[in-house]
Amino acid sequence: MAATKPDGASPAMAQWFALKAEHPDALLFFRMGDFFEMFFDDAQAAASALDIALTHRGEHAGASIPMCGVPVSTSDIYLARLIRRGFRVAIAEQMEAASARTGKGPLKRDVVRLITPGTLTEDSLLDATRPNLLLALATARPTAIAGPAAATLGAAWLDVSTGLFETAELSPAGLPALLGRLDPAEILAADEVPLADWSPRRAPALAPTQPGVARHRLAEAFGAASLDAFGTFTDAEASAAALALDYVRLTQAGRMPRLSRPVPVGQSAEMAMDAATRASLELLRARDGTTALTLLASVTRTLSAPGARLLAAWVAAPLLDPAAIAARQDGWTWLIAEPALLAELRQAIRGAPDMARALGRISLGRGAPRDLAAIRAGLHAAAACAALLDGPCPPILAGIRTAMLATQAPAPPGTAETTRAVPAAQAAPGLPQLLARALADPMPARLDDSGVIAPGYDGELDAERALRDDSRRVVSSLQLDYAQRFGIASLKIRHHAQLGYVIEAPSAAVEALRAHPELTLRQGMANGARFTLAELSDLDRRITEAAGRAEARERAVFATLVSATLAQSDAIAAAAAALATLDALQSCARLAEGGDWCRPEVTETDAFCITAGRHPVVQGAIAGAAAFVPNDCDLSPERRVLLLTGPNMAGKSTYLRQNALIAILAQAGLPAPAASARIGVVDRLFSRVGAADELARGRSTFMVEMIETAAILHQAGPRSLVIVDEIGRGTATLDGLAIAWAVLEALHSQVRCRTVFATHFHELARLTETLPRLRPHMMRVREWRGDVVFLHEVAEGAAGRSWGVHVARLAGVPAAVVRRAGTLLAALERGRAPVIADLPLFASVAEEAPADPVRARLAATEPDKMSAREALALLYELKAALE
Ligand code: ADP
Repeated sequence: MAATKPDGASPAMAQWFALKAEHPDALLFFRMGDFFEMFFDDAQAAASALDIALTHRGEHAGASIPMCGVPVSTSDIYLARLIRRGFRVAIAEQMEAASARTGKGPLKRDVVRLITPGTLTEDSLLDATRPNLLLALATARPTAIAGPAAATLGAAWLDVSTGLFETAELSPAGLPALLGRLDPAEILAADEVPLADWSPRRAPALAPTQPGVARHRLAEAFGAASLDAFGTFTDAEASAAALALDYVRLTQAGRMPRLSRPVPVGQSAEMAMDAATRASLELLRARDGTTALTLLASVTRTLSAPGARLLAAWVAAPLLDPAAIAARQDGWTWLIAEPALLAELRQAIRGAPDMARALGRISLGRGAPRDLAAIRAGLHAAAACAALLDGPCPPILAGIRTAMLATQAPAPPGTAETTRAVPAAQAAPGLPQLLARALADPMPARLDDSGVIAPGYDGELDAERALRDDSRRVVSSLQLDYAQRFGIASLKIRHHAQLGYVIEAPSAAVEALRAHPELTLRQGMANGARFTLAELSDLDRRITEAAGRAEARERAVFATLVSATLAQSDAIAAAAAALATLDALQSCARLAEGGDWCRPEVTETDAFCITAGRHPVVQGAIAGAAAFVPNDCDLSPERRVLLLTGPNMAGKSTYLRQNALIAILAQAGLPAPAASARIGVVDRLFSRVGAADELARGRSTFMVEMIETAAILHQAGPRSLVIVDEIGRGTATLDGLAIAWAVLEALHSQVRCRTVFATHFHELARLTETLPRLRPHMMRVREWRGDVVFLHEVAEGAAGRSWGVHVARLAGVPAAVVRRAGTLLAALERGRAPVIADLPLFASVAEEAPADPVRARLAATEPDKMSAREALALLYELKAALE
């Protein structure tokens, strides 16, 4: 039911209509007491997405209003489900307490937050091991002189949950690569920017900002006079960054999370890989969307979620600068050489909480006590690591140590009040010490539960708590007092829900007590009566007030701790990043410790020489069953095109991919699964291996293959690495051969890139005569008692035969068909006839197989074109023929 017209709505519904009008693209979670309620279309969509009951409430415009709701206390679970299904949710809170309400009409409500996939902060909604990025794209208006061909895009991406904020400028052609690398959860872009596969992640458009205004606003947001203070941003980058900020402000209803200053990272610092390459190599995600059998999973030995996120970022964006790569390598190589220290560092990192995300929530005013506790524990871990690294070590580790110590400095003066209750000698300590002293351990989950602030930290809080908690002691001493004063040993002081503290006396004593004017009889009971007196009511009031004051004081102290923490947010973020880096480095060390993984040598040359390389994922998958056979790969300048032939299942794709993966790991600064690897920096990597899964989208395999081949030929250069499998397989043999041939020639002589080219066209091996840097290789296969045995070994030379017929037998193709194929193959090889029509095909069929009417009839049918009735008729016919 459309909810277009608010006319005649009840006051609460009128409020709903007004808020919904501000957020038409989001489901409105409308707070009503302990529930978030949804109405009209929202209710219908949410009820079916969440599989909860759809009910009705009241009427509007003559029809009942569809409604569903979720309890506030468990709303996170429902939010997570909705966000995962691509919904955006606007949270409308009650802005006044029902008890404090003045006047008539509904409670005041406002949208306090818009929850969208790219602006999440809750652990329950986030994947701990992946960044959660919001990407904004802005187009630069091309100048009249440069013309539209010079159009560029500005990109800015940020992670609200951790504060990361980066920008880059790129050409529209580079967009798929950027999207592939960042895998953003949500994208802000003008409608004319095509997002292809990523379109479902497009957020509703926001109005773009003029570059001048954008620069000003960014500088202002980060407290600088000019954006130039942070680096050089193009107009398009500045606009994109401002767009991202505007969106964050909108979704957080005006609050700003803590964000790092924007860093222009450009695109040039990283190995370029397009989306097809990433998909083909299954770097962070397998083709089926899972993550278990990926390059990342095979190299991850991190101990914390932030470490895992960082390692994923490294693998997704291999570097180009040999010095930067060597810095990471130096870090983990050094750690391996210090095993005792490494073990202690691991102990400190293990279980270190996610400081970056806790800080993100605190900065948005969503910080729970456990977030401060996370900062406390994280800083503690950082301090422990820094202490362990106290000695000469490589620059990357020295940098980590410095960053980890940043929060140990005395707290800035603005937070002095938080230390009021502390003896002067300890005043103004560093944040870690402050939190360690101020926060209770263990810590309750919610501030309302009290007991968040440690006893002994704040004198006033302790006093209020003492008054509140000492009530029992005070009451029992009063009881003795009264018993004496009124001469009734059996009187008791009890707490009563309505009356507060009362004196309870047995029936026999009631008369005597009534004689005391200061006592007021409040209630008769079957076996006695209840009295109050001013003194007792006063105590009651003081205790209740003390509890209230203790709670208020606790909140105030908590708030000062939050602001002390936020005052150091940059230092905390730096310590968090340092811990993550240390974790990533120890993860690398873990991989290389055993000696099976090497430290690659990455240089500014055009070398490419891997000895005994392995595919980490395939190796892991076959572990136990058989040993993985390592293989070399030498693409040195004089032999930079490796042509690989071999039957299916012989290990071609594994070999192709492993060389690309080793280049990625090497440039990401990680250890590589090889005995040695010497790699001249690869600026762009193209991998076209494995199933093209675009058939479903209506393009033929061949068309997809040719589009991708075109991309390679246009974009690859002499420093690129190209890994291609079976170009030309999707078309007729001669077409395919011709295309593969021409592509190979172009890669060899024009593009001049390092290439591994797998093909089933054995003829191509003969091109060595005209292509001097081409080296034919084959997958070694042995024939044993008529069967084929794969050795998984790559050897130089041209394969004599393709073994396809043998593989067919292995796959369970019926023996007769295999035999027939063998005969045909022999004929083909004898005749060396390229044209099928020349072969004595039908003659040999007659020789080989005696006529079989059932077979012949079956062979002539086309099941796809038959109706069910025809198929049934055929079945009867075949059965009859058999009999
Ligand atoms: P192709 O691309 O030639 O069809 P694959 O690369 O897909 O072959 O490999 C087929 C299977 O062979 C793999 O799933 C793996 O189990 C095994 N294999 C591949 N390479 C090796 C190797 N170097 N050592 C051991 N087994 C391998």
